[in-house]
Amino acid sequence: MSINRRNFLFAAAATPALAAVPVPVLASSPTTKPFQGTYRFTVGDATVTALLDGYLDAAPQMITGFEEATVSAVLDNAQQKLHPGGVRIPVNAFLVELNGQRILIDAGTSSFLGDTLGDLNNALAAINVSPETIDMVALTHIHPDHSGGLIDANGQAVFANAQISVGQTEFDFWHDDAIMAGVPESARGFFQIARNTVAPYADRMMLHSGEHEVLSGLTSLPLPGHTPGHAGYLLQSGSEQLLFWGDLVHMTALQFDNPNLTIAFDTDAKLTVKTRLGMFDRAVADNLLVTGSHLDFPGLGKVRKAGDGYAYQPAPWQYGA
Ligand SMILES: [Zn+2]
Repeated sequence: MSINRRNFLFAAAATPALAAVPVPVLASSPTTKPFQGTYRFTVGDATVTALLDGYLDAAPQMITGFEEATVSAVLDNAQQKLHPGGVRIPVNAFLVELNGQRILIDAGTSSFLGDTLGDLNNALAAINVSPETIDMVALTHIHPDHSGGLIDANGQAVFANAQISVGQTEFDFWHDDAIMAGVPESARGFFQIARNTVAPYADRMMLHSGEHEVLSGLTSLPLPGHTPGHAGYLLQSGSEQLLFWGDLVHMTALQFDNPNLTIAFDTDAKLTVKTRLGMFDRAVADNLLVTGSHLDFPGLGKVRKAGDGYAYQPAPWQYGA
């Protein structure tokens, strides 16, 4: 589907807390999808599996300074194209298996944003992982493509035994009635979705601040801008590291080359760019392996300096993990 303000609002209006009866959003159905994807690799003693939830098209009006000719040329150079709905981006989540624990980095979209998304459970099933065996869901932020999969169509918890890790600032932002009352009507739906998706986990929320070891080997890293409490998670095992940077980048082909490009869903565009540039520089300096929620699947690679901007260097396929 194509994502724009109107259908985000529509999705919000149809979530269980606002509707008398739970309504499947945008006529999505949990049928088997043709785009299912999993990719398993190791980071030290940890095993990580990239899980493809699906894709969405970012509508041109959502992209700041969008010029069709320029964007088309850049996409063409990256062996991509501008789709009728806009710039096609994946939604990824990640399973980390570390020290006998199963941690999900973000939870996919479920049925919140249409039938090109919501495949996370199929991906988990494909690797024989049932939702009940997940010990923790570590959220980078509380947007519907990251927290939507926390609840089923009845608004109940999907991960029966998981704690939820998320930034204190992020949690507080979406639960602040004054902030919600002050935003434009079109943005209010985000707040209701955020609240609905974490509500069933109220007694098992782990709220972190700053750089905090949420469990041994996994440390939160504040990356504010896209949302106020947006955070990455740094996995460390032995001498190896991997940073899950969430939504630091939405469009792989466009935003390394032009890191000043933002989208309408960036809460604070200026801070988004500042945080992105700082993280890019750190990733270059530390030769850091990174992955993200919207990097082209499976989204594993490194950041390089390239001219005035940056470039993304995908990691080679890892065999037999
Ligand atoms: Zn996202």
